[in-house]
Amino acid sequence: MATHDDSNYLEVKNLVKWFGNDRAVDDISFTIPRGAFLTLLGPSGCGKTTTLMSIAGLHSIDGGSIRVGDVIYTSPEEGLFLAPEKRDIGMVFQSYAIWPHMTVTQNVAYPLEIRKLPKDEIDDRVAATLKLVGLTDMADKMATQLSGGQQQRASLARAIVSKPLLLLFDEPLSNLDLKLREAMRVELKRIQHEVGITSVYVTHDQSEALVMSDEIIVMSKGTIEQRGGPRDIYARPVNRYVSNFIGVANLLDGRVARAANGGLGMVEVSHNGARIDVTCQISDGLEEGSETVLSVRPENVHAIRENEGGNCLEGEVIEAVFLGSYVDCRVKWGEFEWKVIAHPRDRLRKGEKVFLKLDPDHSLAVRP
Ligand code: ATP
Repeated sequence: MATHDDSNYLEVKNLVKWFGNDRAVDDISFTIPRGAFLTLLGPSGCGKTTTLMSIAGLHSIDGGSIRVGDVIYTSPEEGLFLAPEKRDIGMVFQSYAIWPHMTVTQNVAYPLEIRKLPKDEIDDRVAATLKLVGLTDMADKMATQLSGGQQQRASLARAIVSKPLLLLFDEPLSNLDLKLREAMRVELKRIQHEVGITSVYVTHDQSEALVMSDEIIVMSKGTIEQRGGPRDIYARPVNRYVSNFIGVANLLDGRVARAANGGLGMVEVSHNGARIDVTCQISDGLEEGSETVLSVRPENVHAIRENEGGNCLEGEVIEAVFLGSYVDCRVKWGEFEWKVIAHPRDRLRKGEKVFLKLDPDHSLAVRP
């Protein structure tokens, strides 16, 4: 029998889900340590909600298995399917799922009442949870009297009050305006950290994923492209798709001229007549001669006035937008437009010639 410990508290194994002829989730596997916050990130239709609903038991699945702790939620091969209400999961959705005809207290007490807990314990736990989410002053208000942000706090309180095995979030902040959304990201993460409930969060918003997650799984077309911590995914994307989806990157097709065992190698890049050999980090698995994509973040392209030789190319500034603490530039090189973050004191001007120096340690050859 397999051993389960805190490092693989939630296990999704070879999950497959079909909708008609559409393979919405295509044989994905991942585990989450107990207490961690994992985000499924990807564009609309990549299968993240389907994965979440499969964990919740709101979908049957066509293959694989899902386990939490020692409880098998579903495993069609073994004929096992635990009903959603028996999975002990808290959920927070995009639409505020609180009941309008009840007060905040009644909403949050409800999951404890159906478990038939003693009244004193219910009162204590509801009060503590409302305090945690910052709604103590709203306890006696009707749910309809709350703002959008407060309604999401109430939904969260109701999801965590019974201390479920798992918390599932499906785009819970997307109905809020930007300012509130940004504040709620930090707040939600703080609360999750405090209650320590293992969480799976679904979003298409990369900044939300970067801010909130212990780990991110980047998905496309029902499969996993990459898994890692926010810094790792940003700094070491494995392929063009992830480079492009997370943050902003200059992406150029090339060929590996010299491979490196975990160190610096060389890539030949040419773009409509312009060409350069770039010393850069070569991703694992890329060999000499492999097709590759050079990925360089705008903050790792340095605009300078002298040619410093290696990793330097000459271009013309075609746009320089002053944004206070930095200048957002476009620099034309052949037909390619480099995105460059420059310092205001460099005073780059539209129309001037500059050299772009690519930082070798932060230029990355990734899989196409
Ligand atoms: P979104 O953010 O738009 O919900 P998503 O990444 O969460 O996107 P899913 O909702 O999981 O993606 O959808 C994955 C695929 O499965 C899509 O092609 C979608 O059209 C299809 N799909 C999802 N739910 C159903 C359903 N109930 N019936 C039929 N097809 C569905």
